[in-house]
Amino acid sequence: MKPGAAVRARAAQVIAAVMRGDSLDRALESLGAGLPERDQPLCREICYGTLRLFPRLNGLLGQLLQKPLRTKDRDVHALALAGLYQLTEMRIPPHAAVSATVDAATILKKRQLSGLLNAVLRRFQREEADLLAALSPAQNAAQADWFWDALGKHWPEQREEIAQANNTHPPMTVRVNLSRTDRDSYQQQLNGIDISSQKGVMSSAALTLDQPTDVSALPGFMNGLCSVQDEAAQMAAQLLAPAPGERILDACAAPGGKSGHILEQQGSEPCLTATDISEDRLRRVQENLNRLGFSAKLLCADGAKPSTALKDQGPFDAMLLDVPCSATGVIRRHPDVKLLRRIEDAAGFARQQNAILDGLWPLLAPGGRLLYVTCSLLPEENSDVVAAFLSRQANAREEPLELDSALPCTHGKQLLPHAKGADGLYFAMLYKDV
Ligand code: SAM
Repeated sequence: MKPGAAVRARAAQVIAAVMRGDSLDRALESLGAGLPERDQPLCREICYGTLRLFPRLNGLLGQLLQKPLRTKDRDVHALALAGLYQLTEMRIPPHAAVSATVDAATILKKRQLSGLLNAVLRRFQREEADLLAALSPAQNAAQADWFWDALGKHWPEQREEIAQANNTHPPMTVRVNLSRTDRDSYQQQLNGIDISSQKGVMSSAALTLDQPTDVSALPGFMNGLCSVQDEAAQMAAQLLAPAPGERILDACAAPGGKSGHILEQQGSEPCLTATDISEDRLRRVQENLNRLGFSAKLLCADGAKPSTALKDQGPFDAMLLDVPCSATGVIRRHPDVKLLRRIEDAAGFARQQNAILDGLWPLLAPGGRLLYVTCSLLPEENSDVVAAFLSRQANAREEPLELDSALPCTHGKQLLPHAKGADGLYFAMLYKDV
């Protein structure tokens, strides 16, 4: 058995679980955990990388197989994709990648398929250029067909750039806790321990690290001196601009990244209610706030049907609605979106988004503001939702946003994902007439 076969077998099981419909986080948590610590990074790299390029790798595999593998051999299907990923993207000597991948079939108790696997990977090495040339444009760009078409419809000029961003490792950005220090001082602290970083261009708190690192290496992380948060996500609290003492509702708060930022901005007079529909996920908000040394009123609540306990916390001066969505703006962070999402999902999310807006609007004080946020690139979940809401709420009006890096939409503004820059988030600011 070649060294590294066990990691490949485990990665194949994780990828196969996602192909079955599991989320990557859940699959890694349940299957990846059993691996020795030293093998975890390679397992994650193979899983994330294979899923990021899934449509392309699967297009190649389709050409290499005379007939599709059976459903019960999904793990070997995943292993073949992981083999192709190693051959095309990783700096592992090809013979080592092939033999460790072929040996992994035996660990999966599919020894009878190891010959087929070996033949597929060897043929790919011989015919790579022709196989790549025969891919469809969507496969070549490594995007799901429906999403490639949607990008062509909504973002034709930026389609290639978005696809490229979706295929890259996301950068690691920290949000400096400006209630405790300033960005220059924190950057110097990082420099002092050889962690180099670049200042964000949008968020005054953002430092993007040149190399991702473990959070335990970040000075003061455990005591709340900084948090890990993409620069686009940092714009939510900055656009909401909560003033000290204002009553704020963060309605879809878990795991609490933006709640912490709101409290950093409110400084000495915090007044935040953070809610989420998931009790489990709400616990993560508590953990995040504990680390930052803040407290807030936490409530498990459905924004679409606010409970009396939530209504009693209002009315609110400002609300952040970071609603559930297709996550099509953060595919590089959640590559399982490439497999798990379908075009029809956008309509389902739009229904939830409309219901949450309708449910919470009555809790906003007259003169109050509501920032609507998604991490979607699809107008069905963004402009269209805001347009429909404005058409049924006579006392709602939209205010322009100051966010130069974002593209104006029919309503609100869209940040597109950039290979080295921020995630693809959408923002719209609504005011309630007095
Ligand atoms: N704002 C969070 C942050 O910055 O860490 C991320 C929020 S995430 C995009 C969306 C959240 O909405 C999820 O935690 C999900 O559990 C929650 N959610 C989904 N449906 C909801 C509903 N009807 N009411 C309240 N929360 C909901």
